[in-house]
Amino acid sequence: MKILVLNSGSSSVKYRLFDGTTTLAKGLIERIGESGGDAADHEAALQRVMASVDLDGLDAVGHRVVHGGSEFRKATVIDDDVFAVIEGLVPLAPLHNPAALSGIAVARKLLPDVPQVAVFDTAFHQTIPPEGAVYAIDASLAERWQIRRYGFHGTSHAYVARQTAELLGLPADRAKVITLHLGNGASACAVEGGRSVATSMGMSPLPGLVMGTRSGDIDPTVIFHLHRVAGLPIDEIERSLTRFAGLQGLAGDNDMRTVQDRWAAGDPAATLAFDVYCRRIKEYVGTYLAILGGADAIAFTAGVGEHSPEVRTASLAGLSALGITIDEARNERGDRIISPDGAPVAVCVVPTDEELEIAQQVTEQLRD
Ligand code: ADP
Repeated sequence: MKILVLNSGSSSVKYRLFDGTTTLAKGLIERIGESGGDAADHEAALQRVMASVDLDGLDAVGHRVVHGGSEFRKATVIDDDVFAVIEGLVPLAPLHNPAALSGIAVARKLLPDVPQVAVFDTAFHQTIPPEGAVYAIDASLAERWQIRRYGFHGTSHAYVARQTAELLGLPADRAKVITLHLGNGASACAVEGGRSVATSMGMSPLPGLVMGTRSGDIDPTVIFHLHRVAGLPIDEIERSLTRFAGLQGLAGDNDMRTVQDRWAAGDPAATLAFDVYCRRIKEYVGTYLAILGGADAIAFTAGVGEHSPEVRTASLAGLSALGITIDEARNERGDRIISPDGAPVAVCVVPTDEELEIAQQVTEQLRD
C-alpha cells in the first residue's frame, strides 16, 4: 500500500511516503508562517509536499496525533465526528493537537478521495490497567476534567517492543519488554505480550524520566511553592518545567552530546545532570521489573538510547543481581544485543521508526 505519513507541528510538517515498508520520499517543511520560512501556512506546506512527491495511487494519509484521550484505542479513519472528538481533546494537548488538526483539515481538503487515518501517541497505552492509569486524587474531579495517565510515544514503544521480541525470537504474545525511549522527550514503558501495561509519562508528556528540557517527575508541591512563595505566575512555572528544566535546567544545555562532553571533562553541573538522568532511568527499570514480575529484555531507543553507550551503562549499573548486565565491547560497538550471551535479561539497542509504525498501523486499519 502507498501511504503518506504526516507529522504536523505548529510550525513544521514532516512527511514520509511509503510503498509498503519502503520509503519513496521524505522531507521537512520548516518555519511555517514565519517570514522567510518554507510556507505561509499548513495549506501551502501540504501543497509543497504534494508538488514534490508522486501521490498517484495513494491509498491513505496517516496523521500523527499526539493526544487521543480515552476515546481512541487504535488508529482511526477520520470523518467529521472523529475530527470533532480530536478537537475536543485540545485542552489536554493545547500545543500539539491543534497542529495535527490543521494538517488533517488541509489534507482532507486537498485529497478528498483519500482515506485519512489518525494514529495517536496515546492509543498504545490504553491497555494500561486502571490501577496504573488512575491518579489517587478526588475521583469526581478526575472524571470531570479527564485527569488520568494517558502516556505518549506509543507508536515508538509499540514498534520497539515488537522489534525486540523479533530480534530475540521471543513469543510475541508473552514477551516482557521494558522499552526506554530516550530522545529530546523521554519515556519508559513496560510491555507484556505486545500490550503496554505501564508508562512513565502521564496526563501530559511532562512527568517520568528526565528529558532535554522537561523535568520529569517532581513533587507537585514545587508548583504551589513557586507560585505562592516565589510569586511566579502559573504560565511561567509551566514554561520553566517544560523548557528550562531537565538537562537544560541542571546543566544549562539540553543536548546530551554536549552534556556528556562536559561530563567527560569533569564539569560538575554536567556530571550531576548526567547522574540524575541515569538514576531516574534506573528507578523506572526497577519499577517495571516489579510490575512485569521480571523482564525478558530491556530495549534502548531514540537519540540518546541508540547512541550513548555511557547512558546505557550508567543507567543499568549495579543491577547484575537482577540478571541485568552489559557486555562493554558490544555496548561500545552499538551491537543490537549488548548483554552477554545467555544473560537472564537481554539488553538491546533497537532503532525506533515512528513513521514506519504509523504507516503499518494505517495499513492494518484499512485492512480491517
Ligand atoms: P527527538 O525526540 O527530537 O526525535 P532524538 O530521538 O533525535 O530526538 O534524540 C535527540 C537527543 O539524542 C539529543 O539530546 C542528542 O544530544 C542525543 N544524541 C544524539 N546522538 C548522541 C550521541 N552520540 N551521544 C549522546 N547523545 C546523543
